[in-house]
Amino acid sequence: MSATQTAEGIRTRLWIGNEWVDAQRGGTFATTNPATEEVIAEVAEARAEDIDRAVQAARAAFADSRWRRMNPHKRSRLLWKLADLVDANADELGLLETQDNGKPYFEARRIDVPSVAQTLRYYAGLADKVQGDTVPVPGPFLNYTLREPVGVVGAIIPWNFPLSMAAWKVAPALACGNTVVLKPAEETPLTALRLGELAAEAGFPAGVLNVVPGFGETAGAALVRHPGVDAISFTGSTEVGKVIMREAADTLKKVSLELGGKSPNIVFADADLRGALKGASSGIFYGKGEVCAAGSRILVESRIHDEFVAGLQAGAARATVGDPMDPSTRLGAIVSEAQLDRVMGYIEAGRRDGACLVAGGERTRVNGRGHFVNATVFRDVDPEMSIAREEIFGPVAAVIPFDDVDDAIRKANDSLYGLAAGVWTRDIGKAHRLAGAIDAGTVWVNTYNQYSPASPFGGYKQSGFGRDLGFHSALEKYTHLKSVWVALDG
Ligand code: ADP
Repeated sequence: MSATQTAEGIRTRLWIGNEWVDAQRGGTFATTNPATEEVIAEVAEARAEDIDRAVQAARAAFADSRWRRMNPHKRSRLLWKLADLVDANADELGLLETQDNGKPYFEARRIDVPSVAQTLRYYAGLADKVQGDTVPVPGPFLNYTLREPVGVVGAIIPWNFPLSMAAWKVAPALACGNTVVLKPAEETPLTALRLGELAAEAGFPAGVLNVVPGFGETAGAALVRHPGVDAISFTGSTEVGKVIMREAADTLKKVSLELGGKSPNIVFADADLRGALKGASSGIFYGKGEVCAAGSRILVESRIHDEFVAGLQAGAARATVGDPMDPSTRLGAIVSEAQLDRVMGYIEAGRRDGACLVAGGERTRVNGRGHFVNATVFRDVDPEMSIAREEIFGPVAAVIPFDDVDDAIRKANDSLYGLAAGVWTRDIGKAHRLAGAIDAGTVWVNTYNQYSPASPFGGYKQSGFGRDLGFHSALEKYTHLKSVWVALDG
């Protein structure tokens, strides 16, 4: 990354118009490694005037024929080239992600970064397939549709999978011919900045991808309000999603929101219990539980409940907390002290409300520093408790028993959220019945946390609307559908 070494340490700038620029007011903020509490870099802080500059660069790039009229095959090649550059710089990107987020390097390098390259390549394949239909209208007319880019897309992303989330937004938006202003989360700005730089190296024209780190209430809000932004693609909390929807109303932007979840992972007594145990443990402990689709409500059929809880306790014990750079670490550092405080607050609330803590629950440090908590399991959780209803965004499982299929469906759907669900059973009829009955954007059967750029991802209810990933969902989100009528009798 192009960064300047100063007396105070490393400084990065904003990435606008394929150049590093200082924030106009000169402000910076520190990004820290949550595992060591050390400052990694001072990051230029985008404020409203910098967002304006980035939006103007994106607007100019959108109007410029070099991008607007670019041969779609060329656009496809640029995305493919960017994927190659992500692969070529995978060690560096993985390390930046680990230092910024606290996740194990093994995960960042082996899972996150390759999935980013895969997403870019998938959408490289979409770039020359953005097409409309001919429509059989009555009368002497030819009617056809065109799929046109919406314009400037403001992408606002969270800190849990910083580079993956950037790719989920940027790749389809660029494939469809838009330009992008990307605002990474203030906790984890570094890989997004590097992605901007790599996009220039791949050959994307200036202004097509701009990256402006800053805080939500200033930089994020300025992007949402900016009249030069045509669409907002947001992933983050339900609370902020609601603010964004309200703020975007004044300029009637096209808004899509991928928000929080409290996803049920439902285990029937007839399931392959070894597989279900692995899926239930990794469903909540993977990524430190800082995963929108985390299987945080584990619903277990009553007659296997005690045996299953014992298995989960053993799973929690195996989820080794440690230095993210150590290959044996399964649970890295929680992204920030504030987030760890939040997680610990929920653990306290669970105890207070009378749930039974059977694993974890302790704030820990590694080598005497950092923000860690061990894998936590509560049993005897009442569905009305806050640990059963609210998104914790940490490695905290709430186990809730159920009696039969109807009870499982009722409890699964008893949530404001509807992002994802897991179902574990050997009964194929039951599996499909649940897949149909659960209000969630994704249902995993006898597996959990599977993702592919080809498969759409997003929410029902207060988990938001609009879909990331997939072919048709990208077209819906990042293009306008224009209808053209041509009189044939004149
Ligand atoms: P999380 O709970 O994952 O931190 P947030 O919803 O708080 O999720 O943040 C996700 C992203 O939304 C971040 O990039 C953050 O800066 C941004 N954000 C926060 N508040 C606002 C806001 N009022 N307007 C626009 N973006 C915001």
